[in-house]
Amino acid sequence: MQCRTEPLCERVIALLAVRVPLWRPELLLLAHVAYTTGAVRISEKFALRRPLDYRLVVLMAILPDIIDRFLYVFVIPGAESGHLFAHTLVFNVALFVVLVAIRRDLWIYGLLPIAHLALDLPVFSLCPHWGDSLDELLWPFLGSDLANVHIPGGLTETGGQSLGERIMDRIGDPFRTYGESSLRSLFIEAAGLTVLTMLAIWGRLYEWSRLRQLVSAGRL
Ligand SMILES: [Zn+2]
Repeated sequence: MQCRTEPLCERVIALLAVRVPLWRPELLLLAHVAYTTGAVRISEKFALRRPLDYRLVVLMAILPDIIDRFLYVFVIPGAESGHLFAHTLVFNVALFVVLVAIRRDLWIYGLLPIAHLALDLPVFSLCPHWGDSLDELLWPFLGSDLANVHIPGGLTETGGQSLGERIMDRIGDPFRTYGESSLRSLFIEAAGLTVLTMLAIWGRLYEWSRLRQLVSAGRL
């Protein structure tokens, strides 16, 4: 993959001799869970001052990936990635409004999928290419074409595969992503793992009673 707009960046990639995607949807689960949980834990301690359910925090932190990965594997044959409708701002703002309408204090959980979108932006990339990601993030406002949410053939496209073939082909994608990871992705994931370890120590999850409290009541 080449870096057209930034020759310096192209040279850095050549020097590192690693495959660095300019912008390829990647499933960075550890990073999403770690950074979101860390930020929420600090907010809970110093600003919110009310207990939160960290099982729900983790779920909401990766909700766009769960929904779009499900659609990609099981529902939309013409989808070309795990970044679809649930990675658009309009979807997540609507979700936020629905949660707040159900119960006002759910707003903190409604913010987390929006934070997920921010983490997915190529701002941490060596060669930020905002075009593709903004088209997706702000779909349908910058163009309602489904190609902007990675469904170029539309919802009627069959992809030429049976359901079984498609599931077998796509279900391993998250693991292939790790197999082909760039240096940047590995660094972000390693930092995420470090944050999670620090959170576990902070929450004394090495004590059986504290771990049980997290699993059964979501308390950290
Ligand atoms: Zn995502």
